[in-house]
Formats: sequence, structure tokens, C-alpha cells
Amino acid sequence: MDTLVKYSYDELEKYVESLGEKKFRAKQLFSWIYSKSVSDFDMMSDVKKDFREKLKNCAIILDTKIKKKQVSSDGTIKYLIEFCDGNCAETVLMRFDNRSNLSACVSSQVGCYMGCDFCATAKRGFIRNLEPYEILSQILTIQQDTGLKITNVVFMGQGEPLNNYDNVYKAIEKINEYLSIGIRRITLSTCGIAPKIRQLCEMELVPTLAISLHCADSNIRKQIMPVENKYNLEELKKSLKYYCEKTGKRVTLEYVLIGSLTDTKEMAQKLCEYIKDLKCNINLIPYNPIGDNKYKKPNKKDIMIFKYLLESQGKKVTIRLERGADIDAACGQLAGKV
Ligand code: SF4
Repeated sequence: MDTLVKYSYDELEKYVESLGEKKFRAKQLFSWIYSKSVSDFDMMSDVKKDFREKLKNCAIILDTKIKKKQVSSDGTIKYLIEFCDGNCAETVLMRFDNRSNLSACVSSQVGCYMGCDFCATAKRGFIRNLEPYEILSQILTIQQDTGLKITNVVFMGQGEPLNNYDNVYKAIEKINEYLSIGIRRITLSTCGIAPKIRQLCEMELVPTLAISLHCADSNIRKQIMPVENKYNLEELKKSLKYYCEKTGKRVTLEYVLIGSLTDTKEMAQKLCEYIKDLKCNINLIPYNPIGDNKYKKPNKKDIMIFKYLLESQGKKVTIRLERGADIDAACGQLAGKV
């Protein structure tokens, strides 16, 4: 079976011609797949019946399936998506403010080799990179399943996107062009692969950048994030300043507050020092335990003190709402259960 989502528009034209059809059929298919997100050839009402029958015998739209789905009371939906080789990765639909702002959090790899110590995905190691169409398929799967149009995409699921640079960039191009999602609505989150951040700045489409900083003390960061041994905080900061200069945008720093480790006043002061000359917003993420009891949840008082200390430096600080608290919504938790 041929998987249609693998094809670019030009390739789809050639494909329909190879089936003995006129080129304009590709335009019809493209619209049904990407604008209307249908899952079934029979729903393509303006495609003639004998062509639909032909397609049913030789093609499928997506080669992914939903292996598991959890719906939270706050509207978050977490999917475990199975690819054609049996490997799975997670994709999450998050709703903010109102129904018109729908974010898909997509995975870029099956597993991850960055080894962050607090991360459920890291515990299972690296399996493979996802292809551009497999990244796109995650968004289409959500749209097909819910009938809703995704408005924002964040590369914040399993994997380090900058370790799968070429495929992620191609996926960004397709998300932008085929799904009409503006580049400002696409966010890439990285643990801090400094040279790849610089490389990204030279591209035509530069997404919004979020950095998993999580600690501004190099020794503690090394304990929880091995990337610090290769690209340390200083090198990371130079690449972030370059991003800000080149794009005129701010970066978002993601900071996991781990009880009695990264949530202390001393750590807040180190973070203030680190960010004082950086155009950034800070997103604090209270740690969500992954079941091994190694790290603790922060308490509410320490979260508020930490936030206050950063705000007193004039920085915009948000605390990430706990989405999907009643489902397995931390990175990698659902995949680990299958
Ligand atoms: S937090 Fe992200 S970069 Fe670190 S191991 Fe997990 S998936 Fe990889």
C-alpha cells in the first residue's frame, strides 16, 4: 500500500497520473488530506467513485494508528501513536484559554539519547529518528480523531528535535505550508545543542525557541542533564543571544522545579544572574514525579518564592499549568506503559 502523506504535492501529481488520472485529482486529494483531515477515501465527495475505489485498493492516507488514548478532565488528550514498524511515540493535544487555540505537542524521535535524569523517555534509550511525514502524521491523526484544526505545534514530545535536525526542519516546512500554521506558531524545544541552534538561525523558517534549561548551576545541571558536559551554560547562552539578535525574538527558558534541588533561593539567584542580559521569558514547570522517587515535587511556597525572585529582575515568568494531571502526561510516561 502507498502512504499518501509521504508525498509532496508534486509527487502526488505524479502518483495520480501513474494511476491513469488527471493531475487536478492531486489537488482534490491534497485538500481532503490536509485541509479537511479526512481518514477515509469515501468521505472525499468530489472525487469520482471509481478513482476512490482504485485508491482503496492501492493506497492509505496515513500509516499510523492510535495505540492508546487518554482524555483528561481538563481537555488534554494524550495519544500513543504507532508507526508502521511497530514503534510508538507520544503526541498530546492541549487546549488553552478557549477552543480556538489548540496545540499539538509532537515527538521527533522514538526514545532519546540525551539522558536527562528526570525524564521518562531517557530511561528507555534511543530507538530511531522520526521521518518528516511521521511528524506530520501525528498532527493529522489528532485532527482526524477530533475533527478539530490544530493552530499551534510544539516540538516538546519524545526526543531531542535538534538531534534529528534535517527531518524536523522538513516537517516544519510541511506544517507551515500544508497545514497553514504560521512559523510564529511553531515552537521547537531543545535541551541546548548550541551549534544546531546557530544553524537553525540561518534557515528561512526559524521557529520560536524554547530551551530546557532546568538549572543555571553548571555542576547540578551536569547531574541532571548530561548535555551540559558537551555544550555548557556559557556556550548555550552565546547561541541564545545569537538567536535573539538574528530573529529579534525572545527565547523561552523552561525550568523544571525539582524539590530541594533546583527550586532553592540559591538556584533562583543563579538563574537571575544567568538571564540578566538575555531577552527571555521563563516558564517554571513544577516537577511531575515519574515513579522512581529519585526527585521530589516542589512545594507551593518554594514555587512562589522562586517566581517572585525572578520577577523582581523584571522578567516575565509563568508557571506551567498542570495539564493532564489525571493522565500520564509527563514526557514519555504513556509510552513506558505499553
Ligand atoms: S528531556 Fe528531552 S532531551 Fe532530555 S532525555 Fe527527555 S526527551 Fe531527551
